Amino acid sequence: MPIRQLPGHLINQIAAGEVVERPASVVKELLENSLDAGARAISVDLMAGGQKLIRIRDDGSGIPKEEISLALSRHATSKISSLEDLESVVSLGFRGEALPSIASVSRMTLVSRNGPNAWQVEADNGRLSEPVPAAHPIGTTVEVHDLFYNTPARKKFLRTERTEYTHIDKWIRRLALARPDVAFSVTHNRRATLNLKAANDDASRLQRVAKLCGDAFASQVLTISREVESIAVSGWIGLPTFNRSQADMQFWFVNGRSISDKTLAHAVRHAYRDVLFHGRYPAYILHLSMDPALVDANAHPAKHEVRFRDSRTVHGFITQAVDLALRDTKPGGQGVSPVPSTAFFTRDMRQSPMALPTSGAIRPAVAEAMSGYQTLTNMPMTEQALPSGETAPPLGFAIAQLAGVYVLAENSHGLVVIDMHAAHERIVYEKLKASFDIKELIRQPLLVPISLSVSDAEATIAEDSAEYFQQLGMTVDRSGPSTLVVREIPALLKQSDAEALVRDVLADFQESGTSSRVEHVSHDILSTMACHHSIRANRIMTIPEMNALLREMEATEHADQCNHGRPTWTNISMAELDRLFMRGQ
Ligand code: ADP
Ligand code: MG
Repeated sequence: MPIRQLPGHLINQIAAGEVVERPASVVKELLENSLDAGARAISVDLMAGGQKLIRIRDDGSGIPKEEISLALSRHATSKISSLEDLESVVSLGFRGEALPSIASVSRMTLVSRNGPNAWQVEADNGRLSEPVPAAHPIGTTVEVHDLFYNTPARKKFLRTERTEYTHIDKWIRRLALARPDVAFSVTHNRRATLNLKAANDDASRLQRVAKLCGDAFASQVLTISREVESIAVSGWIGLPTFNRSQADMQFWFVNGRSISDKTLAHAVRHAYRDVLFHGRYPAYILHLSMDPALVDANAHPAKHEVRFRDSRTVHGFITQAVDLALRDTKPGGQGVSPVPSTAFFTRDMRQSPMALPTSGAIRPAVAEAMSGYQTLTNMPMTEQALPSGETAPPLGFAIAQLAGVYVLAENSHGLVVIDMHAAHERIVYEKLKASFDIKELIRQPLLVPISLSVSDAEATIAEDSAEYFQQLGMTVDRSGPSTLVVREIPALLKQSDAEALVRDVLADFQESGTSSRVEHVSHDILSTMACHHSIRANRIMTIPEMNALLREMEATEHADQCNHGRPTWTNISMAELDRLFMRGQ
């Protein structure tokens, strides 16, 4: 076959292969257009899982008559006009591909009004009609009939009506979480399936979350809102005790765009590292806003992924923001109400991405921190003054010990049951962590330096990251094109496998430009120490000792769960007790 230019209609159909995978992608693209047009309310009507009809109506800016035909032609967009625009793009669309692609694989009608009159065009199999007058308020309605009717090979890949509808529903929910300020209403086969009013304050935004993610999540969240210089994160994270068996309730929005990103997901996972039960996943809805010039939105055909100019800074910022919120998971913590908005971020995170937040200026060596906990008799648990006046403290006052395992206490709600070992383990662990600063790690030269062979690329990364390795308490030199020598490691990790550690750190660098291995491994060791030095079962405690434990829990960050993510205490309310005994019935 000779080389020839493909006809425009076929080019559009080929492009549709990337943009229009299934009805859900049509819905996503059209909703994004409505949001880009400044819509305040959007309605979606679907027939047969979107395969027969997708109709999206908005009250956005509308399209002027003379631009309507252009909107349906390839590479025509009102959103950017230069490379500079692309580099700082804030709209969801910018490639000018969606409408012509969708029109090339369906029968499309577009009605829009941006001035005194509304105009309508129809597109069918590459032919576009002249605009004719129509009736429509300011805004736009796009109807997509019989998707893939002229591309039978694609049509075959469609699943059942129900499956396609599920995919559409997922996208609508995501966009509804991205833009709580916009009202959404949805029907499927003429039945109303979703109705969301515009939410413009914290309470109604949380109501929308409850509607989209369930009451259980919305009633067990911490609110996050942090801003440093030109980067801000806000949203909700689930309490560690509200967790999932899968990573299915994790939503990230970057400058309003729903995306999935390894750096962001890892940053949150890292912040939950020692409050979550093994193998469980946190739930969250988080919005990241930052200078659009620092994030490339043009990194994926369907824009599901982004690229950060400086992913290490973003990672550090997110971890720290989530970490700070999670500290409040302690008795009497803030629960669903916003965490205090004290400015925590005085430090320039770019200079110290690995900085471990510590509460005080004094950072004694780990060994010193342990000294108070070597034996239980040394524990600062006796003769502590109980708070006097207003209301009872969150965990109330101890009344007894049960089976040498649980402390029973009474607070204003009813009965409190505390797992004393789990609770004390957390208290000791937090103290050890607070006295541990990764920047002040004591190094230990290896008696015999370890030589390890790596790929050329890894050796180069190690060489380029020499300073970063130093910050992690390790000295790693390149000794050949593909060999490294490990000369020093942190003293705390002297029992660990140095070779495996270096390899893991290198893999992390390759993946995300940063590594939290050393901190991880160190924390694991501190956690084990905490476990060994905590109150064992069957130890008889006096009432003052028990009360001292309760007061320490209230003052300890993350104290609602032990180091392994198990709850440390529970409250059985008077109402629950009354129900048990059928009181008042
Ligand atoms: P892009 O969104 O990448 O610009 P599209 O093909 O999705 O490309 O849309 C082309 C153009 O049509 C947009 O740039 C916009 O000017 C106009 N447009 C599309 N949908 C709407 C809408 N719902 N309201 C107003 N203008 C719209
Ligand atoms: Mg678009």
